[in-house]
Amino acid sequence: MSFTDTAIIGAGPYGSSLAAHLSAAGVAHQILGQPMRAWINFMPPGMLLRSEAFASNLHAPQRGFTLEDYYRQKGMRYQPMGMELPLETFVDYACWFQSNLVDNIQAVDVVSLRRVDGHFQLALSDGRSLVARKVVIALGLKGFAQTPVVLQGLPERYASHSALYGDLAWAQGKDVAIVGGGQSALGLAALLHEQGSRVHILMREAGVIWHPRPQASRGILARLVRPDAGLGRGWRSLFLSEYPRLFHMLGRARRQQIMEKSYGASGAWWLRDRVVGKVTISFQTEVRSAAVEKDQVILRVISENRESSVAADHVIAATGFKTDMRQHAFLSKDIVDAISVDGGLPELTSNFETQVRGLYVIGPASAHSFGPVMRFVYGARHAAPSVARHIANALKVGARDGVWPTAEGAVLERTSE
Ligand SMILES: Cc1cc2nc3c(=O)[nH]c(=O)nc-3n(C[C@H](O)[C@H](O)[C@H](O)COP(=O)(O)OP(=O)(O)OC[C@H]3O[C@@H](n4cnc5c(N)ncnc54)[C@H](O)[C@@H]3O)c2cc1C
Repeated sequence: MSFTDTAIIGAGPYGSSLAAHLSAAGVAHQILGQPMRAWINFMPPGMLLRSEAFASNLHAPQRGFTLEDYYRQKGMRYQPMGMELPLETFVDYACWFQSNLVDNIQAVDVVSLRRVDGHFQLALSDGRSLVARKVVIALGLKGFAQTPVVLQGLPERYASHSALYGDLAWAQGKDVAIVGGGQSALGLAALLHEQGSRVHILMREAGVIWHPRPQASRGILARLVRPDAGLGRGWRSLFLSEYPRLFHMLGRARRQQIMEKSYGASGAWWLRDRVVGKVTISFQTEVRSAAVEKDQVILRVISENRESSVAADHVIAATGFKTDMRQHAFLSKDIVDAISVDGGLPELTSNFETQVRGLYVIGPASAHSFGPVMRFVYGARHAAPSVARHIANALKVGARDGVWPTAEGAVLERTSE
């Protein structure tokens, strides 16, 4: 059994940023998870990031580790806005950040987390176990993919969720229906079309909301009227991007309302020419039922009050995500019961702590408490320093009051990789 002060579950942008901040604060910690797995395994090669370059930084406590610094080091031309940022470049940047600032990532999964005598006990997928005083869950969107009920009964061969891609080569030459009208649907449609799939998008909306290419330089007046912010332009975006603690102070119902109305289905500027006129799009269309017939999936759809059917070799539900901590099977029942209010949504303190003392949630699962910025990498600039500060202080107080005999934790030995 090994021991550490803080275990971070997840080695994506949030977990890595937090690890960098904990190191700077002198807190012994252990970061667990396959580094950047969601980005490497479950996003399609060739994808471009939706977020602007300046809003795609992992967050370090010191200067020198932004995406811009990485571009400079590689001798590549950087532009904060209006620059196409390929998935592969972003992953390479994140790995560079990790290799410089994140010590000893253990590429293992946590298979169980429970509370024992005021500590947390973690069982790891390689058979080892770990005891920690504090635990931070940074699992991104894992487990939260939402598939419409009508598609849920289809065999895996015929239906999947956009959260699972990955390589798209399997769909070359095939008919693929995509349900959804947001960035995931449009991005997948472009990539599938370009590799030789025939794509049909089915969306409820009456049209696609395309974001215009942002002008890189604007006058003072234009910037005053619509200031730049991590999530987009305008004062509302500025509030949501930069003041998650103010968002947290709103009542639950108001927060819910803002979440529902913010950043709905839309497409990035660089997708428009790759989708419009290239793939079939049915607007105001809803899937009523789905069945497999003669090795194809047949979708019965209703479109502007007319019923018809769409046949495809495969249907992809690009229908988003819904936070539900009950989906994390590794959490013990008492932890899930204690942290989940309102259908699996965690209610967090202003320091990202759950109702279980010492257990924190950061990243997309914290969005209902801190706003839509937490669904994006940009939110790490708020979450990582805040949680690191809170943990460092709590550990100091615990050591001073003799709650814990020592403030030092030991890290696990390195795995051979
Ligand atoms: C298709 C797509 C495109 C996106 N594009 C953008 C974009 O352009 N810009 C943007 O800001 N956001 C984008 N997002 C959102 C972005 O993915 C999240 O904001 C971000 O990844 C959250 O980071 P994270 O560190 O919380 O989690 P993730 O990056 O998802 O990392 C999760 C980590 O948890 C680990 N893990 C999983 N299970 C376990 C376990 N049991 N034990 C231990 N570790 C485990 C994984 O190995 C991984 O290291 C996109 C999302 C999708 C689905």
